[in-house]
Amino acid sequence: MGKHSRAVDPAQLTDLLRLEPGHGVDLLSTSTGATPGISGGKSAARELQADLAPRLADLQERLYAVGRSGGRQRVLVVLQGMDTSGKGGVSRHVLGQVDPQGVTIAGFGAPTEEERAHDFLWRIEAKLPRPGQIGVFDRSHYEDIVAVRVHELLPPAVWEARYDRINEWEAGLVADGVLLVKVFLHISRETSKKRLLARLDDPTKFWKYNPGDVDDRAKWPAFQQAYQDVLERCGTDAAPWYLVPADHKWYRDFAVTSLLVELLEAQHLEWPGADFDVEAEKARLLAAE
Ligand code: AMP
Ligand code: MG
Repeated sequence: MGKHSRAVDPAQLTDLLRLEPGHGVDLLSTSTGATPGISGGKSAARELQADLAPRLADLQERLYAVGRSGGRQRVLVVLQGMDTSGKGGVSRHVLGQVDPQGVTIAGFGAPTEEERAHDFLWRIEAKLPRPGQIGVFDRSHYEDIVAVRVHELLPPAVWEARYDRINEWEAGLVADGVLLVKVFLHISRETSKKRLLARLDDPTKFWKYNPGDVDDRAKWPAFQQAYQDVLERCGTDAAPWYLVPADHKWYRDFAVTSLLVELLEAQHLEWPGADFDVEAEKARLLAAE
């Protein structure tokens, strides 16, 4: 135990960050720099995360073992947020804490011509995690409402119908053993500017920069409104949204780690028993050379 007090059990993060289904969300008045559950700043968060990392690794291994033994359980982490909100950072720093064999990461950009010829969930379904896996979506089916709406890519009636479609589809996933962890990484417009400028100041980050990001940023209020509606209308008891203030990277990584540990622990993943006679196998090995 370090010098920082652990006043708040990180196990409370789901309560602190869950957006209550059916309640209104006001993104404009929701802090992007808050650190719910952490009172000691960066070093306290890093220390707590170091404690959580082995727990997450153990839970992932249990999940994998259950999947190998015929269980249907899997996890889907849906990451949404503006450019530079840290979706890639979460993939690296949070999921990077577990065995990479158990994780699949899929990113969703503007759909290809082939993808556009199909229903919007077609390319999403193709990337769902298999039993025992943790899947991470860096952007997701929510772009089919948010990006489509803000950029006016399809008539409103088309994306309007998608809130209910998504809710029904997600309920089906949950019924089929998917633990859905939907995370909105909330950053300020100022942080977005700082991080985009940093990309332009650093030749090792040019590859991350996309001139279109500045166009998206110019439409900040429209994006916030579109996200707010998705958070309000697609938060359900089966698949609630978690709002993670993400101006501090150290908080973001701690918070998502903590959410995953708590939600996976609640699954009570038991190590699969042996489907062979352990004693007989031991005896066989001991009898052999
Ligand atoms: P990035 O995640 O930085 O690679 O950017 C991907 C880009 O693709 C973002 O500007 C998204 O808004 C955009 N995008 C992702 N999915 C869709 C979609 N279904 N329709 C339109 N644009 C999308
Ligand atoms: Mg980008």
